[in-house]
Amino acid sequence: MIVAANWKMNPTLDQAGVLATALTTHTFANVTRVLFAPHPYLVPMSVRLSDSGVRIGGQDCHFADDGAYTGDVSATMLRDCGASMVLLGHSERRSAHGETSHLVAQKVRAARAQQLQVMLCVGETKAERDHGQAEQVVIDQLQASIPSDMDAKHLTIAYEPVWAIGTGAVASPDDIATIHALISAVLTEKYGADNLPPILYGGSVNANNAADIFAIPKVDGALVGGASLDAEAFAAICTAANQISP
Ligand code: PEP
Repeated sequence: MIVAANWKMNPTLDQAGVLATALTTHTFANVTRVLFAPHPYLVPMSVRLSDSGVRIGGQDCHFADDGAYTGDVSATMLRDCGASMVLLGHSERRSAHGETSHLVAQKVRAARAQQLQVMLCVGETKAERDHGQAEQVVIDQLQASIPSDMDAKHLTIAYEPVWAIGTGAVASPDDIATIHALISAVLTEKYGADNLPPILYGGSVNANNAADIFAIPKVDGALVGGASLDAEAFAAICTAANQISP
């Protein structure tokens, strides 16, 4: 199981230190924890968490490795700041920054050129779900965002229905199971059944609903936004994941 914290543009540096200390007080034999920290915090968090087993990731990277891209961050910079992963294609990047799957694929290539593991987000909007397009949207995002030569072992998928992110509205177990089975089928075609990347669910996961979500077939963990800013809630989610048999 993988449980990843997406701090987004939170918290303050002082609060981040407190959260990082809380992360070091627990270990979970069956859970890989990942922290997607804001870029300015990558160095302090990677120093604080160096012996904790928590993997550090950036929340985005540019497709180019250097150049005149004011405000952007390259995959090399992430790696140099202690990151071993990067979150790409998050819906907040797709919607607020106009990121297309074509651009996401370029970023995936840039990340892999610097040996970063990639967590790729896919998921439909409410309007797309209401129009019966959820499955096709997810298929299209997967096909267009994953470069053809991408190796499965460097990839994790996060299925995040856009309407469930930060809203408290969790997708139903049936809907999660359906989309995870679909993602699994698409990736089986590409990589083979024995070589599937982990598939996480994201969207309003919290301490109360995590165990039920982790019990859904083909759910290999969670990408957690809001609840990752609460040390106790995040630990409870990791505890729920840890109780799922490997
Ligand atoms: C996210 O930002 O990826 C996310 C899933 O957020 P939340 O858990 O707050 O819905």
